[in-house]
Amino acid sequence: MLPTNTHILFHEFDYHAPTTLYEATELLAQYGDSARPIAGGTDLLVQMKMERRQPAHVISLARVNALQGIALNGDLTIGATTSIRDLHQYLTSKLQPPFASLQSLGEACNGFSTIQIMRMATLGGNLCNASPASDSAPPLLTFDARVTLKSKTFERVMALEHFFIAPGKTALQADELLTHIRIPRPPHQSASAFIKIARVAADISQVCAAVRLTRDGNLIHDARIALGSVAPTPVRAAAAERELIGQTFSAALAEKIGKRAAQEIQPISDIRATRAYRQHIAAVIVRDALLRAWERTQ
Ligand SMILES: Cc1cc2nc3c(=O)[nH]c(=O)nc-3n(C[C@H](O)[C@H](O)[C@H](O)COP(=O)(O)OP(=O)(O)OC[C@H]3O[C@@H](n4cnc5c(N)ncnc54)[C@H](O)[C@@H]3O)c2cc1C
Repeated sequence: MLPTNTHILFHEFDYHAPTTLYEATELLAQYGDSARPIAGGTDLLVQMKMERRQPAHVISLARVNALQGIALNGDLTIGATTSIRDLHQYLTSKLQPPFASLQSLGEACNGFSTIQIMRMATLGGNLCNASPASDSAPPLLTFDARVTLKSKTFERVMALEHFFIAPGKTALQADELLTHIRIPRPPHQSASAFIKIARVAADISQVCAAVRLTRDGNLIHDARIALGSVAPTPVRAAAAERELIGQTFSAALAEKIGKRAAQEIQPISDIRATRAYRQHIAAVIVRDALLRAWERTQ
């Protein structure tokens, strides 16, 4: 019988529950490629049930306090094991300008499947799983987010844009954890928007898009556009962004830029949507997200 998502966990593994970051990274250093961290488990357990991953050591991050929580200290710093639900609540209740312009990340969290998944799933897990359909990645790309990666002996920080390498593959080494996601202080007069199209509410996207606009009077001072489920990794539409900067905003411009962004992507056909559908919808949702974000800058 082919392994499925409802299949029982087939192979045996050792389960470790460290309580400090040092212990967690020490276990990773000790077991290397045969180990896998687990945060909420909403991706990893599915992959283990389907026998796509068979780690000999599963290292739980749930009790490592240093990986939890959100802090505003110049940047907005989000611990990797912060749940999507907690992040959504924080973003929609605690933030003042200019961080109130992170609306798109709140929208991405809110559209994240079901309440059960939102409570289990973590922001770090969503990024480390490296799915092209990650809902949090497009907003974070538009905010120029940076990620902190830590091994037992070394810590490095990189732009999120360089973190994604291929489907299921990130810049993480086997002995490294993602510890934090940092969003720099957004420019004043900024706003953002996120739109996701999926077959049903509790599904990953067929296409999703996030935009961030910064205005200067009627002019677009700065722009970011990022999309999910349209390429091997979440991607920015850099040429479309450049065409926006310095322009007077209008509905016609949003329409044109939506089509421009759709030319920059390389979607595939799969069980969720055809390539042609993704290409068409990408243009529509980039346009709509631009209109929504601009309205929010008023
Ligand atoms: C029913 C269902 C619906 C879903 N809907 C959505 C959706 O709408 N949008 C969406 O984007 N995703 C969705 N997902 C996918 C999943 O829920 C998310 O990707 C989630 O954020 C993963 O987080 P997690 O904590 O559960 O990760 P885990 O499953 O614990 O880990 C995922 C991967 O990341 C690694 N990892 C986790 N944390 C770290 C860390 N700190 N450092 C290094 N490696 C780490 C793990 O080893 C594993 O390889 C859905 C999944 C299911 C089962």
